[in-house]
Amino acid sequence: VTRETEKTMAPALPKSAVRLTHPDRIYWPDEGVTKEGLANYYAQVWRFMAPFVVNRPLALLRLPDGINGRQRFFQKHAWKGMNSHIQEITDPKDKQGEKLLRITDFDGIMALVQSAALEIHPWGTTTGNWEKPDMITMDLDPDDEVAWADVIAAAYQLKERLEAEGLAAFVKTSGGKGLHVVTPLTPKAGWAEVKGFAKWLADSMSADDPDRYLATATKAKRKGKIFIDYLRNGRGNTAVAPYSTRARPGAAVSMPLEWSELTADVGPAYFTVDNTPTRLDALPQDPWDGFFAAAKPLEKKKR
Ligand code: ATP
Ligand code: MN
Ligand code: MN
Repeated sequence: VTRETEKTMAPALPKSAVRLTHPDRIYWPDEGVTKEGLANYYAQVWRFMAPFVVNRPLALLRLPDGINGRQRFFQKHAWKGMNSHIQEITDPKDKQGEKLLRITDFDGIMALVQSAALEIHPWGTTTGNWEKPDMITMDLDPDDEVAWADVIAAAYQLKERLEAEGLAAFVKTSGGKGLHVVTPLTPKAGWAEVKGFAKWLADSMSADDPDRYLATATKAKRKGKIFIDYLRNGRGNTAVAPYSTRARPGAAVSMPLEWSELTADVGPAYFTVDNTPTRLDALPQDPWDGFFAAAKPLEKKKR
């Protein structure tokens, strides 16, 4: 295949009606990533990213002056002057409470870019089936002393245990320090049951190998260990979205991987705004191809 035909085979990028003001505003100074650069990045990953951010309650990390700016808002609620492509939605369990946020399409993510939302953190549920999560995220948080090979081993350990329960396991870099193992669920079990399962998984891993793994959030006990953070799975909790950028130096993103790609040289912040488009062009398919098709219901059993 020649370069020319490869180009014509690439899917057309989505277009948006959202106007970016100050497209040259710099969000990541060291990498020179601008607002416009971020918009281009999301246009390229949108076809893979959309199902993980559309029609879900969202928490945003907004940094209007970029990652080194003084303003840094982690927000779940609307703000004054919010772009109309970001919707306000009502939590069905908190009808009187402050409205939550959702996007429904590509204009929505462009509105997030315009709003300097440099991290996107969805709930593990869709707003159409709010009380029935459609994924579990197990967040591996290694202490600084833990070797990367041991973090990879922990991800495989989780995969094995999930598969033993009849569930699928997908892996992504966090774009920070760790890995996230994500399991698609048929929306059936409620929040308490899903969080209970995630806790059971973390507890059993740490019980079987207490020198390596920890299932409690106590920072002091973490030395040399990996915290299996199951707490992303409660109602109202969030985890960074697949393909979301991180508001940290390096302009890293949380990158979905095929298991075979999880090697010693692919560290937690290996994939970035800059190198992701090249990676996706070179991939034969979505690294998480079949994610939602692999969903299984969480079976009720005594744990
Ligand atoms: P790392 O690899 O560095 O651990 P991570 O995304 O897994 O990256 P954690 O610190 O393990 O980060 O998890 C933090 C999670 O807590 C985020 O996924 C986010 O959804 C949630 N969160 C809750 N409150 C905040 C906040 N104020 N700022 C950032 N994240 C928050
Ligand atoms: Mn983490
Ligand atoms: Mn964590």
